[in-house]
Amino acid sequence: MLSPGPAVVADSVVRHAGVTYWLERDGTTKTLVIDRAATRGFDGEVAGRTFRAPLTSANALALRTALPGLAPVKLGLATSVGFGDRLGLCTPGHVAALRAAGGQIKPVFAQQSIREMGRTGRTPRNVLDDATWGTFQGGWPGVVGADADHLHTTEDIDRCVEAGYSFYTLDPNDHVNPEAEHASPARCEELARALDWAALESSYEQFLSTYSGRTLDLENSAITLDDAALIRAMAKYGAALVQTLRLYRHLVATRRDFEFEVAVDETDYPTKPVEHVVILSELKRLGASPISFAPRFVGGFEKGVEYIGNLAELRDDFEVHAAIARVLGPYKLSLHSGSDKFSTYPLIAAATRGLVHLKTAGTSWAEALRVIARYDPELFRGVVALSIREFATNRQSYRLGCDVSAIPVRPRAAELDDLLTRPDSRQVLHVGYGAALRAYHDRLYECWTAHEDDLTEIIRDHFVKHLAPFAEWA
Ligand SMILES: [Zn+2]
Repeated sequence: MLSPGPAVVADSVVRHAGVTYWLERDGTTKTLVIDRAATRGFDGEVAGRTFRAPLTSANALALRTALPGLAPVKLGLATSVGFGDRLGLCTPGHVAALRAAGGQIKPVFAQQSIREMGRTGRTPRNVLDDATWGTFQGGWPGVVGADADHLHTTEDIDRCVEAGYSFYTLDPNDHVNPEAEHASPARCEELARALDWAALESSYEQFLSTYSGRTLDLENSAITLDDAALIRAMAKYGAALVQTLRLYRHLVATRRDFEFEVAVDETDYPTKPVEHVVILSELKRLGASPISFAPRFVGGFEKGVEYIGNLAELRDDFEVHAAIARVLGPYKLSLHSGSDKFSTYPLIAAATRGLVHLKTAGTSWAEALRVIARYDPELFRGVVALSIREFATNRQSYRLGCDVSAIPVRPRAAELDDLLTRPDSRQVLHVGYGAALRAYHDRLYECWTAHEDDLTEIIRDHFVKHLAPFAEWA
């Protein structure tokens, strides 16, 4: 392909402290250019009156230091959205969507769970660096957060602290006891009594005497805490509380400035209001107050498709959890697996009055596949076939309801883009990222980088639809 020669990426041009920085693109190669011969911290070479630096990890760090807007900070109670780009290519599209949506939404461009990093072969630092370059390229003028998502262990935390994340999502799911959902009262009491109460600086008796009979006034309603519900909540979440506290204290000991979320969205059963009250009240008592909480809401939040369930019930659920978050915090409610749940956004934005964090992750990958379907149909067919073949493995740890047999193994050309819209195939492709990136990594990236403007446009258009309902409240 003939290249027209190096071109300045117009959105990237930024002036700070008397120095101008921009990105230059030559074919698929990008270079950071600085209008100074002498620059501190950057690796590169002097070229006339400028300094030219490759897009390395060291230079991403130098850029985060030079341009304070690129360094992740705490976003506090502002309405916020986590974009989660598994490819490291979608942030310019996310930036464009934020501009188009308007409002004051605060973005978290760098957001990836340890599970996703494992499947995509990336490190916490890779994720942060890619987001830095994308934020710079898109010319985002505001602050950014960085979410170390779904952390289960102290080792996970250490890796992300070292990379410089500002937002930590603590996930104690492995310690939630689903048995308590249906266990007898006697069994629940047995489970609750057996908890590590010393770690919670309390006792079974003290717990009951603190909460028993208390009423939480929620503006339009009230929750009265009775013994049976309290004991069941503790039987289910007590060990998870111990784990959350352990992770939190580990984070505090790193002496970094951070904010954190507690996420129980991947548990087996919807989080009951009384469980929300117990979890957050106990954390508060122990000095661990999160900036956001992700309950598991009622109904089906499957990957990559619309909400499955009764929207009136969901609205009531949002409202009661949002009211609890205002009374006990305030902290934000966090909606995970938020991709493509268009019917739910106005409901949660209104229920929380903008005290909300939305997380999307896989939808950027699924949308990026549209570029492959458009420009390299054979490769796309390969990704489809592989995603079907590996589905049994790929689906592990994800909530999905799709029927693999409904997907054509050899789709016709006219069907390709549609496969990314139809729920069955979209879900199968949605979770196929790990296997697809392992098998076709270079060819996929070649196609995306050769058609970067298409990718940015597709991502922007898709995300504007996610952001608009939140922009109204931000
Ligand atoms: Zn989640």
